[in-house]
Formats: sequence, structure tokens, C-alpha cells
Amino acid sequence: MTTDLRDPRINLVGRPPAEIAALLEGYVDRPFRARQVGQWVIDRNATGFEEMTNLTKEMRAELGRRFRVTDPEILDRSVSSDGSVKWLFGLSDGIAIEGVSMPENGKLTMCLSSQAGCAVGCTFCVTGALGAGRNLTPDEIVGQYRVMLRQLEAPVDRVNIVFMGMGEPLLNTTHLGAALETLYERVSPKRTTVSTSGILPGISWLADLPRRPKLAISLNAPDQERRQQLMPIARRYPLRELMAELRRFPLERGRRITFEYVLIRDFNDSVTDAETVTRLIRGIPAKINVIPLNEDPQHFPQHRRPDDATVNRFAVALRDAGLTVTVRWSKGLDVDAACGQLKGRHQGSKPQRRG
Ligand code: SAH
Ligand code: SF4
Repeated sequence: MTTDLRDPRINLVGRPPAEIAALLEGYVDRPFRARQVGQWVIDRNATGFEEMTNLTKEMRAELGRRFRVTDPEILDRSVSSDGSVKWLFGLSDGIAIEGVSMPENGKLTMCLSSQAGCAVGCTFCVTGALGAGRNLTPDEIVGQYRVMLRQLEAPVDRVNIVFMGMGEPLLNTTHLGAALETLYERVSPKRTTVSTSGILPGISWLADLPRRPKLAISLNAPDQERRQQLMPIARRYPLRELMAELRRFPLERGRRITFEYVLIRDFNDSVTDAETVTRLIRGIPAKINVIPLNEDPQHFPQHRRPDDATVNRFAVALRDAGLTVTVRWSKGLDVDAACGQLKGRHQGSKPQRRG
């Protein structure tokens, strides 16, 4: 946990029920009180002890002296014309991170950050251009979910969580693991996806979890040479070893591995490339998510987005080879909330505000 210099009390956010119960032992008169506190924090998304009306006033005061229930602060939010919202969160040490919420047909997908930057440094991703940022703690990860949930303007039937915000989740496995266990109380593992650039020790850590989230792999290139041009981490964890690891990865019934493929003009967007990708993942229950590059001429002038016809040709070539393909025509482009555009900073232009 990060120590909040202004507040030495222990944050109960981001801890599963058993951990809350253990922390509260000795401060509550009966064990079921600790369970009640856990329900308030996790199930009812409470923001403080004063809300916990089934505890006595004295007990609320006593708990409030030792513990807190606090979330990241909302510094800004930008609403896209497609309904997605980019949230800028302030953390206790002054760092800012971003998360995105994307509503669709009564469902809400929340894209959460796991780090305040990214050391992997892919040559097309603005988060990577920021460089390494510290690991987010479980309360900071779960807090993004809690804040977004609280601010919802319309009811949603279902929340999906994807770790596709800032950072490489599998370089923060300790805190990610604790955050997942807490989030699972509200959002099941099959509605949770962890996306990775291919950190092999992290993938084997995931494989050994008793409750596994869905796995997404940022493939992005059909071969080792081009992959390591885009993703320096591919030198450390080569494509051949990555594919071998994925073939061993335990998949629950009906589950598939998602391969994300950022499409870059004249670099990895030909029909031949699509055929190579097909051969590469043959035999793995898979889905492919094609993401036309979100350009950033300032950081990466060398990479351009292919035209729509090329994107479609690539997707059709994969589909014709029998693969399940979706094209992510990115959400939130107008507010820089799309994949690879999260940087934990206020926008240059004045963002639209709600309310
Ligand atoms: N670090 C993890 C998760 C965050 S990145 C990972 O790399 O998987 C989430 C997704 O956004 C990745 O699939 C990545 O390939 C994609 N992405 C990054 N920059 C992008 C850009 N400029 N345009 C389109 N997609 C991008
Ligand atoms: Fe990091 Fe993922 Fe961006 Fe690569 S694509 S720099 S791994 S956040």
C-alpha cells in the first residue's frame, strides 16, 4: 500500500472480505460486524463509516480513527461524443492516472490502469512514451472501478473490466492479484480481462491463479523481427516462447485467448501478414481484435493508420481463414481516450464537462 502522507489510517478499499475481517478483528465487538463493514465497502460502495448505519455511532467513530475508506480523486472527466468518458484521477502522492468507461447496450466496460506509466515502451503507445511509472496499489486499482460506478448516470445491467488502461498489468502482479480478488466480489472473472504485452513470468502467474481472468495478448506483428521493432519487450520474451506458453495456458470451457493487433499502415497490414498471423495462432482457441492505429504524430510520426479499406481487407483475410475477428473502431478518439492515448495529464484543449 502507498502511505498517504496526509493520512496514516489504513484504507479498507481494495481488500477482499477476509482481509477486512482480519484487519478489523479486535476493533469490533462481534465477527459479523467485520462482515458488515466488508459489505458496506465492497458491495455497497460506501465512502466512509458514517454511511454504515447498522453500526453504532461509537463503533463508527472508533473505526474511523484507525481506518479509512477512500478513493482516487476525480481531477477531470472528458465526455466523448460516443458516450465514453475519460477519467483523470489524482492519487495521494500527487500522481495522475486515467481510466475510461464505455457504455454499450446497457453494458458498461471499464478500462482500468495498473501503473502510472509504462516501462515497456512500445513505439506506438503514448503511455509507453511517458516511460515507467509506479505500480498502482490495490486500492488505487479498485478505486477507479468504485468511482466510475458511483458516477454512473444510467443504470447498467452489467460491468465488464478490462486492464487495458495505463501500464502493463503483468509487471504489477502482486497488487493486480489483490485487486482482482476484491473486484471478483462484484465482477466475475469471466467479465474481467487482463491484457499484456507478453510478459512470460506474468502469464505463468496468471495460469496458476485459482480464479483466472480472461487473457488478451498484444500481438501487434506477425513475426519476431517486426514485433521487436514495435515492442522492445519482445527481445526479452520472444514470440516463439510466447506462443509456446500460450499453447500451455489453461482455458476454461468456452474461453478463448484474445489477440490484439494494432494495424499500422504499410508495416503489418497486408493480406500476407494476415495469413502469417493465422498460421501463428493456429490450434489456439482465439479471437482477434484488430485495432487500427490511433495516430500520434507528435510522438510517433513514423506510424500511420491504414485506410478503412485496408483495415477491412485485413479483417476479411483473417475471417476467411476461419478466425473470429472484431475490429475496434476506437472509442473516445475525440477526447484522447482511445487505446494507447492515455497519459495521465489534463488535455491541452478544454475538455467537455458533464453536468
Ligand atoms: N500494457 C498492456 C495493456 C495496456 S495497452 C498491453 O500492452 O496489452 C492496451 C492495448 O492498446 C494494447 O493492445 C495495445 O496494443 C493497444 N494500443 C496501444 N497504443 C495504441 C495506439 N496508438 N493505437 C491503437 N492501439 C494501441
Ligand atoms: Fe505499455 Fe501496453 Fe503501451 Fe506497450 S502498449 S507501452 S505494454 S501500455
